[in-house]
Amino acid sequence: MDHDDKLTGRITATFSRRMQVLLDSSDRYVDARIKGKTIKPVCGDTVSVEAIPDEPDWLITGVAARRNELTRPDSRGRREVLAANLGLIVVMAAPEPKPDWFIVDRYLAAAENMHAKAAVVFNKTDLELLAPATEEILADYDHRCEYPVIRCSAESGDNLASLAALLRGHTSIVVGQSGVGKSSVINELVGGAEQRTAALSRSRGEGRHTTVNSVLLPLPDGGDVIDTPGVRDYAPAIESAPEVIKGFREIEQLGQKCRFANCRHMREPGCAVKEAVAQHQVSERRYESFRRMLSLARDLSARRPG
Ligand code: GDP
Ligand code: ZN
Repeated sequence: MDHDDKLTGRITATFSRRMQVLLDSSDRYVDARIKGKTIKPVCGDTVSVEAIPDEPDWLITGVAARRNELTRPDSRGRREVLAANLGLIVVMAAPEPKPDWFIVDRYLAAAENMHAKAAVVFNKTDLELLAPATEEILADYDHRCEYPVIRCSAESGDNLASLAALLRGHTSIVVGQSGVGKSSVINELVGGAEQRTAALSRSRGEGRHTTVNSVLLPLPDGGDVIDTPGVRDYAPAIESAPEVIKGFREIEQLGQKCRFANCRHMREPGCAVKEAVAQHQVSERRYESFRRMLSLARDLSARRPG
């Protein structure tokens, strides 16, 4: 085989068993299938590919080491990877459906553990004046946790430019409860719903793909956003106490001042975190999320065999 037939590329769409790959060398999109059953590429992956003589399909022969993965438990409780190599996790909430801030905190904790940047986006600002309680929570994410917070509306276009600026240059994914407006916002950012369809027909396989899993959409100002139906009403499992602590940046930072290096910020004496909660420097709500996530992690590790 000609040396030039062995190339690398990036997965830009996944279907049931076939993929679309953007070749690094030529900016060309090709259809590909996976060689063997051991590799499982997802959107965002860098893969090695080779052309198959006399066939339009290419063959994916390997997946490069990942910077990180966004996962969820599948129906059998195993880890399913939704996307890889993410730079930014955009966690979305809205006035309706009623915000579940614990889900927001779980996504933020997942982002911290993935070493990805994270931002909080509150969509549908056209609907109503934000309740003072909501404003307080958003201000807390902004000022105490130092996450970028953007209030926007896919409907009115309010602040979508700030969101576009935040996404520029990153590979992002938008997560959050079903119905908050993820698809609507993504459509606005990429320049219309038809862009998704166009993206899927970039390669030859137009119309032949039935079950689309996810697609990586280029943003007009650079960077891209992964659109996957896999991110609905779930949040990644955080499985150990150290991961939970790492997941709350303001708590992790204060934890360095606790009397005990291995303080879990529950009942230990000399705990700087409990002290900060008492003095309203860490919000009661975030601390409750933290405790709830710790107890979930404990349940998980108790169920784990061995
Ligand atoms: P997803 O499940 O998070 O992808 O949410 P969708 O994008 O499907 O939106 C759910 C519903 O909210 C749809 O009926 C949208 O039209 C509506 N929606 C999305 N964004 C906005 C917004 O900014 N303002 C209003 N009023 N409705 C919105
Ligand atoms: Zn402590």
